[in-house]
Amino acid sequence: MNRDSPRKHVIPVMVPVPTDRPYSYAVPEAVEVPPGAILRVPLGPREVAGVAWDGDGEAVDSKKLKEISQVFDCPPLPAEMRRFIEWVAAYTLSPPGMVARMALRAPAAFDPEPPVEGLRLTGNRPDRMTAARERVLAQAADGQAWTRSGLAHAAGVSLSVVDGLAGQGVFERVEIPPRPLVARPDPAFGRAELTPDQQAAAERLREKAAADGFGVTLLDGVTGSGKTEVYFEAVAAALERGGQVLILLPEIALTQAFLERFHDRFGAKPAEWHSDLAPKKRERVWRQVAEGQVRVVAGARSALFLPFCELGLIVVDEEHDPAYKQEDRVFYNARDMSVVRARFGDFPVVLASATPSLESRVNADQGRYDRIVLPARFAEAAMPDLSAIDMRKAPPERGGFLSPVLVEAIGQTLARQEQALLFLNRRGYAPLTLCRVCGHRFQCPNCSTWLVEHRFRRQLVCHHCGHNEAQPEACPECGTLDHLVPCGPGVERIAEEVDRHFPDARTIVLSSDMMGGVKRLRLELEAIAEGEADIVVGTQLVAKGHNFPGMTLVGVVDADLGLANGDPRAAERTFQLLSQVTGRAGRSGRKSTGLLQTYQPEHPVMRALVCGDAETFYEREIAERERAVLPPFGRLAAMIVSAASRAEAESHARALRRAAPVVNEIAVLGPAEAPLALVAGRHRFRLLVHGTRRADIQAYLRTLLEAAPKPRGSVRVQVDIDPQSFL
Ligand code: ADP
Ligand code: ZN
Repeated sequence: MNRDSPRKHVIPVMVPVPTDRPYSYAVPEAVEVPPGAILRVPLGPREVAGVAWDGDGEAVDSKKLKEISQVFDCPPLPAEMRRFIEWVAAYTLSPPGMVARMALRAPAAFDPEPPVEGLRLTGNRPDRMTAARERVLAQAADGQAWTRSGLAHAAGVSLSVVDGLAGQGVFERVEIPPRPLVARPDPAFGRAELTPDQQAAAERLREKAAADGFGVTLLDGVTGSGKTEVYFEAVAAALERGGQVLILLPEIALTQAFLERFHDRFGAKPAEWHSDLAPKKRERVWRQVAEGQVRVVAGARSALFLPFCELGLIVVDEEHDPAYKQEDRVFYNARDMSVVRARFGDFPVVLASATPSLESRVNADQGRYDRIVLPARFAEAAMPDLSAIDMRKAPPERGGFLSPVLVEAIGQTLARQEQALLFLNRRGYAPLTLCRVCGHRFQCPNCSTWLVEHRFRRQLVCHHCGHNEAQPEACPECGTLDHLVPCGPGVERIAEEVDRHFPDARTIVLSSDMMGGVKRLRLELEAIAEGEADIVVGTQLVAKGHNFPGMTLVGVVDADLGLANGDPRAAERTFQLLSQVTGRAGRSGRKSTGLLQTYQPEHPVMRALVCGDAETFYEREIAERERAVLPPFGRLAAMIVSAASRAEAESHARALRRAAPVVNEIAVLGPAEAPLALVAGRHRFRLLVHGTRRADIQAYLRTLLEAAPKPRGSVRVQVDIDPQSFL
């Protein structure tokens, strides 16, 4: 560049790489780049999409300064979204570039959707008429533009007939603008007749959604009380105001019934957003959300980073669900970040749950959140009658896992032609295989876990890294044939036991690793809802949001399973999960039962479930957390150090510990070898940072990481603020 060329100006651009600040780029003189504009920029040897950030670019040596390549024809990322990205980055200690990357996950959507090519009648006649041509002309006679295949399909002819006509000038080619992905929802479409309780709740929510301003409401109602109907009214109010709405759901890919319900209420479906969406569809959703054509998105946690232009309400359904926590690259909790997003956008949030997280309950108790309670199920549907089966007193038969009490209840359910659900949160056939002769246990070569037998697939599988091997016949250690035994149950093994007891019943196993993926699961779930199975054996995916009208018995095979893992939230989690599972029973009003197989019937979780006394349970848990200064009364963060060798991981973890400043409000625990000491060939150590509620844990961690040696070689450090997992 010579000295006299016009001065280019320099702008900051957030690029999708682990950088803690935007990079500077030059902009050619005639080009306008507003903050938020999505750009293509050179980065090293490649080109990437980035976002024009705010303020002036830093001065850079003009020889190094590169020029932006392209400004996409795309709505800029709104300022509130840019502030949100910065906030999430600072809170989670993630590079803002990596958070911005989550908002740019649809590269092909940065260019406008190309118009579709269409055909329109010109008035010219074809040289020769046939019956097929007649039909095409009749269809197109309305003068509208048709797509080539749409016209062929409507006329019931092959494409070649249409092409033949076009070739003779009977049609001209025109451009049809891309169709909106979903129709506009109509807030007045199918308003439900609400009960007085629901009505009162709906009005309170409506008021909030109809006014300006940030605020959080916890909608706390038992399963089947009509929370969905009620928050639909808040959605209606937000739509009437011209806002877009985001509804977060933990298992959107599997809760297609939700889309139908939304359609019944609003006359149109919401746009879906989740990882099982085809790429083309994702791109259209992203684009139409940015342009404002899509008014409502029902999505998984990552929908929070969609580029809404007029977001006016977020609903987080099943707000307690652990699926809202992302534990990959940027560790964040979408429920908590929804509240932050709403604060930046100055609009309300609704958190709905039958078993709120302790965090949300305490926020409500302390007046930071409004709380609305729906105490009863709709239409006098009774809650299931829950009791514990004391496994010490009513043990299963030898080699089995089902107590005679549960087996008898299943028999009675079948006799009434109703459905039973057996819940066990363990995939596969058996969690451990061992050799009866030498005691050898089959372990994953890459992880410190046992291999899980999957009998249908005839494989031993690692649930952490995916390693799998054919089911062996001989012990690799002592060579003895046919002496390998499965230990403990998974859903497949329970199904086998059920088959022994009830050979004529139609039994289905449902777990997330089923062949055929999401599509197959959806079909199975529909079939179950329509009564096409008698007994369902399933993992937690059957617990979520499904409505099985004929389900009157829920048996929990191992109610103690989640209590033993040393996680401070173990009791809360177990209570939430088991409430949700047993809540699948009796949703259509028939008398229903839940049976919990447990070796500790006196445990507070079992007592709370059996007595239906959630309040006592919450009070006790809250008091305990307060005493231990655990969240929400204190703060936690984890540092997970991993490396190719155990020694490297340990030594870096110790170095972090040595770098930890000594302060009053914060303590560092560890390092300790992680319970999952080896995952996918990487050795892991953990440190836990524990602070009071007032402590600035982020600032503390920043200082610590700054003072510690930089990770070298294979060493990686992952920070997890508000950890949910302690493995
Ligand atoms: P929740 O979300 O609290 O579990 P839902 O909103 O799913 O409850 O309601 C449970 C069932 O009761 C659903 O099948 C729903 O259609 C029905 N229901 C709830 N309230 C009403 C109402 N006011 N009118 C008609 N059906 C309702
Ligand atoms: Zn593994």
